[in-house]
Amino acid sequence: AAGEYTATDLSAAFAARIEAIDPSLNSLVSRVEPTEPSGGDGALAGIPYVHKDIFCAKGTRTTCGSRMLADWVAPYDSTIHERLTRSGAVLLGKANMDEFAMGSSNENSHFGAVANPWDTNAVPGGSSGGSAAAVAARLVPFATGTDTGGSIRQPAAFCGVTGIKPTYGRVSRYGMIAYASSFDQGGVIAKSAEDCATVLGEMAGFDERDSTSADREVPDYAATLNDSIAGLRVGIPRQWFSEALDPAVGDAVTAAIDELRAAGAETVEIDLPDADIALAAYYLLAPAEASSNLSRFDGVRFGYRCEDPKDLQDLYERSRSEGFGAEVKRRILVGTYALSAGYYDAFYRRAQKARRLVTDHFQRAFEQCDVIAGPVTPTPAFDRGAHSDDPAKMYLEDIFTIPVNLAGLPGMSVPAGFVAGRPVGLQLIGRHFDEARLLNVAHQYQ
Ligand code: GLN
Repeated sequence: AAGEYTATDLSAAFAARIEAIDPSLNSLVSRVEPTEPSGGDGALAGIPYVHKDIFCAKGTRTTCGSRMLADWVAPYDSTIHERLTRSGAVLLGKANMDEFAMGSSNENSHFGAVANPWDTNAVPGGSSGGSAAAVAARLVPFATGTDTGGSIRQPAAFCGVTGIKPTYGRVSRYGMIAYASSFDQGGVIAKSAEDCATVLGEMAGFDERDSTSADREVPDYAATLNDSIAGLRVGIPRQWFSEALDPAVGDAVTAAIDELRAAGAETVEIDLPDADIALAAYYLLAPAEASSNLSRFDGVRFGYRCEDPKDLQDLYERSRSEGFGAEVKRRILVGTYALSAGYYDAFYRRAQKARRLVTDHFQRAFEQCDVIAGPVTPTPAFDRGAHSDDPAKMYLEDIFTIPVNLAGLPGMSVPAGFVAGRPVGLQLIGRHFDEARLLNVAHQYQ
């Protein structure tokens, strides 16, 4: 009727905004024509969104930020896509990302870097940088992301939006291109915890097509958003407020924690002494898994193939050399080395032990508290190019996010103000499958 907006108008309005603004951000790799609403009549009926370009949606180009898949069209739907479609959400595009989700700045994409909407000289974070930038610029109400080692939380923090990485196993990995399978977890980036709650509720749940999917009931996340946090025990990891943390970021995070206290929460100091060990273990284990996962890109079955191979070996070598970017090659080399016969015990097995240790420390911490609060990143968004020739520096950006992935815990990033004009985030970490509490605390804070 006159004066009323339809779902089609809504998609058209966001599509127009994408058209006008995205050229200055490069947050999307491809547009998907806004079709008629999918017909789904769930909580997301008519709501536009974009997928990180790691999610298969049948008939859409799905690049994973790589030349290797630059022309690859997904032949089937990921479970996440299937569920969002069933709910009625409308896909408007595929978001830019670091190649195969390897990176912390979105500078590793074959399709070019993404600008941070708050300051175009700054990176948006990575690897879900396109998703975070698109939501921050209000190009879409929400975007999907994946968090193997911080890739939802860190870009959400850098772009001043809200992101949740659910417990490992909460959201199906089916149809999500694999990077490091024992860490990979899909989730959502949106404006608020309330929006994250709605989207997560539609995405989450058991899927028999993912062998590590958790057969646990999905609570109604929206129902507990307004619960009081009086008496909630918030653990503050003392080791995270050290020289590694930019003091101005520390102040912003401390102010956010003060607000939780003002809302009735109690804070307790806890020990998480091994963020540095976690980081080292991750940057060995994730490449090891990646070296195995990425062996499927051989120039034969799908994806990029070199011109005029002279024999099979040449086909493999040149297709992979030309199809993968520098960071992906670095990880394949590190991972293959770590898994090789003579070095397995020295590297891979030791890193697995470190993973266990980090998990145990979280378990101990959760005997003293209900949720953990701290920084997401050691600094606000850094300048584009700042770490381009120093991978170790780039990896250090992940020091507070990666421990959570080793333990498979749920984690959130919530906007906590600005430092020098750039947003910073408050990180909330929960017990396994306690996403409802994270969303509740974040909503009370917001
Ligand atoms: N910075 C991490 C990496 O490069 C991010 C990984 C992720 O969460 N996808 O491996």
